[in-house]
Amino acid sequence: MTVTVVNPATEETIATLASAGVEETDAAVARARAAFPAWRAVSPADRGRLLRRLATLVEEHHEELARIESTNVGKPIAGARAEVAMVADVFHFYAGAVDKRHGETIPVAGGVDMTFREPLGVVGLIVPWNFPLNISSWKLGPALACGNTVVLKPAELTPLSALRLAELALDAGLPEGVVNVVVGKGSVVGQRLVEHPDVAKIGFTGSTEVGRNVMQGAAGTIKRVTLELGGKSANVIFADADLERAAAAAPYAVFDNAGQDCCARSRILVEKSAYDRFAELLVEATRNVKVGDPADDSTEMGPLVSAGHRETVASFVDADTRTLFTGDTPDGNGYWYPCTLVEARNDDRVAREEVFGPVAALIPFDDDADAIRIANDTPYGLSGSIWTRDGARALRVARALDTGVLSINSNSSVRVSTPFGGFKQSGFGRELGLHALDGYSEVKNVFYSTEG
Ligand code: NAD
Repeated sequence: MTVTVVNPATEETIATLASAGVEETDAAVARARAAFPAWRAVSPADRGRLLRRLATLVEEHHEELARIESTNVGKPIAGARAEVAMVADVFHFYAGAVDKRHGETIPVAGGVDMTFREPLGVVGLIVPWNFPLNISSWKLGPALACGNTVVLKPAELTPLSALRLAELALDAGLPEGVVNVVVGKGSVVGQRLVEHPDVAKIGFTGSTEVGRNVMQGAAGTIKRVTLELGGKSANVIFADADLERAAAAAPYAVFDNAGQDCCARSRILVEKSAYDRFAELLVEATRNVKVGDPADDSTEMGPLVSAGHRETVASFVDADTRTLFTGDTPDGNGYWYPCTLVEARNDDRVAREEVFGPVAALIPFDDDADAIRIANDTPYGLSGSIWTRDGARALRVARALDTGVLSINSNSSVRVSTPFGGFKQSGFGRELGLHALDGYSEVKNVFYSTEG
């Protein structure tokens, strides 16, 4: 059994790897288990130093890692470089966090009560293909900082950057067995990690459908899970917003990474009185998105990840769709799909399901209450944006939206030091920031009697 890795921009095979089965997965878990006692015993300062060294190695291999990611995912090289820079920052952040996780002392009668944050043991990390290295680092950073050892399963389509990162972890001096990468099918390797009795926790990022399976499978061993799942986020544009700025930014909130982004603001809600003007500005801005060769420094959008995924994306746009704009794509090989703007109602399929491609739905609304109602009318609750010059309204609406991450007059959701994660069927648990450490450690309470 092999995994064939393809460049989505050329359709050429760039690697063929052995596909692991249950036996190889069990062996990786055994290696991680054997490495755990020594890794948890590494002094906090030294663990921090090792993670810092890994961060520095990522910086030194910045261009190499960005090229691997760009070629394997089809993402523009400029975006891939920014992602690798974030990976280094993530390891720097958690290197600094290792010795700043303090316990508490709690006033009780008869003695001293104190809490400790203990590592969980072996954790299984399962990641998707859209941001392979980035999302791996969001899990590896806190997991390793807390003293866990890990088995990381990248998506079958995009395993290359995770394999290279594991080599860099060894070069940085992390002991053998602390970071293990297993390449194979989700239904085999992923499922085995979920059910394995020696895996204490699963950190999962992927679709809501598979997340549901993970949660069910984890029940057998009462495994801890963090689920970072799908989204159908709203970009809410009020008539009093800086419409030019909002329209110039909106395409990049959907078409970045060719729309293969859990935070994609794929529903653009626009107040009726500004709808026509905004739509005009948005079409102009979308026309300017530069689609083409991911290796070109100026490219803003590349192809989709696979032929199968392109079929799924295309199924959202048919003869009944009210299409406002369709962009251009390069000729020849590659899984290209054009930037597409459609007009929709919130109960249309394109507004309800995660397209995970460069298709955005414009939806008009009447007033604040209507905007909140439509934005919340989805099973998801990951991200979103609010554009208005009225500060009180911005905060009122922000508090009313059922979503884990929001931006006001901006479309950026992800920062190294701030918590990231979903409400509702977008999952639970938080990545990034100090919050992520909670998901990779367990609170232990110890009472020490001072009597007698
Ligand atoms: P996916 O759910 O198909 O796969 C994700 C991972 O799970 C892959 O590594 C896959 O091999 C593995 N997997 C598949 N079946 C499994 C099983 N039965 N048991 C255990 N693991 C299994 O998702 P995808 O298509 O790779 O990624 C796209 C999805 O990920 C989208 O829904 C997107 O919104 C979501 N996503 C969410 C976030 C977030 O942070 N919330 C970030 C990125 C992507």
